[in-house]
Amino acid sequence: MKAPLILEIKGNSLDDGPGIRSVVFYKGCPLSCVWCHNPESKKAAAEISFDAKVCINCGTCRDACPEEALSRDNRFYIDRSKCTLCFLCADVCPSGALDRVGKTISVDDILKKILPDKPFYETSGGGVTLSGGEPTLYMEFTSQLLKALKQQNIHTILETCGYFDLDSFMDMLYPYLDTIYFDIKIIDTIAHKKYCGLPNERILDNFKQISSTAKKDDKILLPRTPLIPDITDTEANIGGIAAFLKNLNITKAALLAYNPLWHEKSDKIGVDDPYKKSKTMTSFSENSIVDRCQDIFANAGIKSSA
Ligand code: SF4
Ligand code: SF4
Repeated sequence: MKAPLILEIKGNSLDDGPGIRSVVFYKGCPLSCVWCHNPESKKAAAEISFDAKVCINCGTCRDACPEEALSRDNRFYIDRSKCTLCFLCADVCPSGALDRVGKTISVDDILKKILPDKPFYETSGGGVTLSGGEPTLYMEFTSQLLKALKQQNIHTILETCGYFDLDSFMDMLYPYLDTIYFDIKIIDTIAHKKYCGLPNERILDNFKQISSTAKKDDKILLPRTPLIPDITDTEANIGGIAAFLKNLNITKAALLAYNPLWHEKSDKIGVDDPYKKSKTMTSFSENSIVDRCQDIFANAGIKSSA
């Protein structure tokens, strides 16, 4: 079984579905969106991160590195062309400034970690959300995890980019899901390829198929669109997505306001993304733009939360 690296298992989340939830963040995604809110989740392989704010400049890591890859002369501290990802530096760093991003953890160990929170899920109407990265990249592992959660009567949500093999999804994941948060980011396939790395036909097709089944099965399928300045929040894109959803009789969606907090995260993993320098990418979504996008959805009969 192909096992994922897990970035984090976050407890007490109030932002990833109803009630109090635990969120399992996978590492690895088939898309590569230029604004990715979790840039450390893009690559499936482990990475080393450096947080300058936490470093106490003790020099222990520099002595431990066999490749002489660490230096204050480097803007990101780590010279990634020399680094062999041995993680010796992270092992000795006393402050946690250096860290291994992505760890293997078994389904049993995930359950051990989250089951103590089950009473909180039960009293708050919460549960467990699988997020990422992209959990559908690891169908077998995710299927086992969801099955184990349902055996414990735990409410399950999947957050997905929608780019997966539909037959495997319906067979292995769908039966164990209560709710699916399904991203529809860009309606034009050429723009989707430009900004997300792949065309969108497979995503839109998967959404169509799942929407007809989910209604019959009484499962919640919530389309979500991140409002990225001048990329996804344009009238043409939001109008196109609204028309696509209206055709499928979808009446509820989520519009996710943009925030630029990912810039700091991508610095930690040494990514010098050109989009960080774009002026529109450095501030939060303006309320007027969120309102305008909600109005476009409302005119198509779709109630949207932001
Ligand atoms: S992971 Fe290993 S090679 Fe890379 S900087 Fe740390 S000690 Fe050096
Ligand atoms: S060991 Fe950690 S705290 Fe010390 S210099 Fe290296 S990164 Fe900074």
